[in-house]
Amino acid sequence: MIELPEERFPGRDAKVTVRHLAKSFGDNVVLEDIDMTVLEGTVTAMIGPSGAGKSTVLRCLNLLERPDSGTIDISGHRIDAESRFTNRQLYALRREAGMVFQHFNLFPHMSVMRNVTLPQQRILGRSKAEAEQKSHELLTRMGLGDKGSQYPNRCSGGQQQRIAIARALALEPTVMLFDEPTSSLDPEVGVEVLEVMHELANEGMTMIVVTHEMGFARTVSDDLVVMADGRIIEQGEPKRIMEDPSHPRTQDFLRAVL
Ligand code: ADP
Ligand code: MG
Repeated sequence: MIELPEERFPGRDAKVTVRHLAKSFGDNVVLEDIDMTVLEGTVTAMIGPSGAGKSTVLRCLNLLERPDSGTIDISGHRIDAESRFTNRQLYALRREAGMVFQHFNLFPHMSVMRNVTLPQQRILGRSKAEAEQKSHELLTRMGLGDKGSQYPNRCSGGQQQRIAIARALALEPTVMLFDEPTSSLDPEVGVEVLEVMHELANEGMTMIVVTHEMGFARTVSDDLVVMADGRIIEQGEPKRIMEDPSHPRTQDFLRAVL
């Protein structure tokens, strides 16, 4: 069953609109006719078995992959198979949509502070002093105010993921994309990251979160998207889907993770 968020939350503007998105790698059809709307100030959780295409959807939104066909409108930018972006446009787009990955992707040879300041200087043209001030503010908010001079590998996984979140937030994105941000963390550490994400949601950040954390999906997300085999098989109110999934593959998936 597909209940669209635009019907459940009338009057809200769309932040991200995906229409007929398709993507293949060689013969492997990874996304087929994906339609998805993410409304401003809402959290969309995406779940589904490994290989379903969840990461590829996020990567298309951030132009880490290019769609074969279909359109993506994200914060006023249009992406399709034909669009060609200058570096400046690419930066503008990546700045709108901050991405946080499963494996943090911090620069290992740079201090925590440098990890957070560098993109601000490169992408926003902030001065070093401005970037450091912003970084300090964000790291403090993440409970990491004293970590600036450390190297990432001296920080725990949960700390590294919060540094990655600070780095993304420093560019003042209007959408945050999270790809299994807690999957490589021990549960007790993952909780710290989920708390930060919950706060961001409470502050009204528009977020798309690929996750297997059903507690988070249930309590924080406004809309739940279930993917399998490159398609959205079910979508709607998270609690409804978790309590009464209508698609057999959703039922199988939930049985495995709950
Ligand atoms: P999920 O995140 O739901 O586990 P992915 O989007 O990572 O799924 O992958 C979907 C499918 O696309 C998988 O079959 C994967 O092997 C394939 N795939 C993803 N990225 C690439 C790539 N860069 N090159 C080739 N195949 C890829
Ligand atoms: Mg993935």
